[in-house]
Amino acid sequence: MANSKYEYVRLFEQPDNLLPQTWIVVRIDGRGFHKLSDKYGFEKPNDRRALDLMNAAAVSVMKDLPDLTIAYGVSDEYSFVFHPNCELFERRSAKLVTTIVSGFTAAYVYQWPKFFPDKPLQLSNLPTFDGRAVQYPNASILRDYMSWRQVDCHINNLYNTTFWSMVLIGGMTNVEAEKELQGTVSSDKNEILFSRFGINYNNEPEFFKKGSVVYRQYQLQEPEAVGTTTAHTQQDDEPISQLSRTQQEKIRKLRRKAQVVVEHVDIIKDDFWLRRPWLLS
Ligand code: ATP
Ligand code: ATP
Ligand code: MG
Ligand code: MG
Ligand code: MG
Ligand code: MG
Ligand code: MG
Repeated sequence: MANSKYEYVRLFEQPDNLLPQTWIVVRIDGRGFHKLSDKYGFEKPNDRRALDLMNAAAVSVMKDLPDLTIAYGVSDEYSFVFHPNCELFERRSAKLVTTIVSGFTAAYVYQWPKFFPDKPLQLSNLPTFDGRAVQYPNASILRDYMSWRQVDCHINNLYNTTFWSMVLIGGMTNVEAEKELQGTVSSDKNEILFSRFGINYNNEPEFFKKGSVVYRQYQLQEPEAVGTTTAHTQQDDEPISQLSRTQQEKIRKLRRKAQVVVEHVDIIKDDFWLRRPWLLS
C-alpha cells in the first residue's frame, strides 16, 4: 500500500540480485593511480608502503565481512571473493560493490598517515576506487580468474622492473626504454635485466612477483593428508542457506574468529588450494 502519491517512483529501481550459488568476485581498482602515485611520490616500480597500505585496507574489509572467502591484490587493484552461500544484501550487486568500495576506501584513507607519515593527503588528490561484481559458476573457473590476475601481476611486474631499471639505472628516457621494450618477450626482459643490470628476476621479492593473497587461516593441511581431507561429508557441501540458523551462526562465528593472513605465494598451481581446502569448499 502506497504511503504517498510519490511512492510509485520506487518502480523505477531495477533489481540487480546476482545468481544464487555462484562465486561473486568484486574487483576494485584505484582511479587514476598513475597520476596519484606521481603526486605522492610512490617509488617506482613498486612502492612497498603503498602496497602495504592496500593490504591493510583489504584486511579491514575481510574482517568486516565474514562472507568473504579470499582476496587477491596487486598494484592498485583488489579482488574480493564472496562464497557461493553468501546471502548478504540478498546478493544485490550494487549493495555488495558499494559496501566493499567504500569500506576499502575508508580504511585506505584512514590508514594513509600510518604508511605515508611525511605525505599528508590533499583534498584535491584523494584516493578513490571503482568496482564491479562478476559471477563465476564454479570453483574451477574462479581459480582461473585468480590465476588470470596473478599472471597479469607477473607480466606487469617483469615489464615494470625492466623498464624502471633501464630508466633509473640505465639512464634512458621513458620513451627510449618503452621503444626498446616494444615487442619483447619474457626471456628478452630477463636477459636485459641480467646482462645490463646484474639483476636476476627470480631473486626479486615474492611480494612484487606474486602479489598478495588475503584469507582466513584455519589449520594448514599437510600435503600427504590432502587426499583424505578433500572428501567432504555431504553436510559440508550443503549450501549455508539449507543449514539451521544455529549452524549458520556457528560458521559465521568461526569465520569472524579466524585470523586473517596476508601472503605472497603462488595461487596458480594446485598446492595452495589443496593445503587450504576450506577456501573452495
Ligand atoms: P584507471 O583509473 O583507469 O585505473 P590508473 O592510472 O589507476 O587508471 P592502472 O592501470 O590501474 O591505471 O594502473 C595503476 C598505476 O598506479 C600503475 O601503473 C602505477 O603507475 C601506479 N601504482 C599503483 N600502485 C603502485 C605502487 N605500489 N608503486 C608504484 N606505483 C604504483
Ligand atoms: P541500512 O544498512 O539497511 O541502510 P540503516 O540503519 O542505515 O540500515 P537507514 O534506513 O539507512 O537505516 O536509515 C538511516 C538511519 O540513520 C536513520 O533512520 C536514523 O536513525 C539514522 N541517522 C542518519 N542520519 C542521521 C542524523 N543526521 N541524525 C540522527 N540520526 C541519523
Ligand atoms: Mg580502472
Ligand atoms: Mg587504476
Ligand atoms: Mg590497476
Ligand atoms: Mg543506511
Ligand atoms: Mg538510509
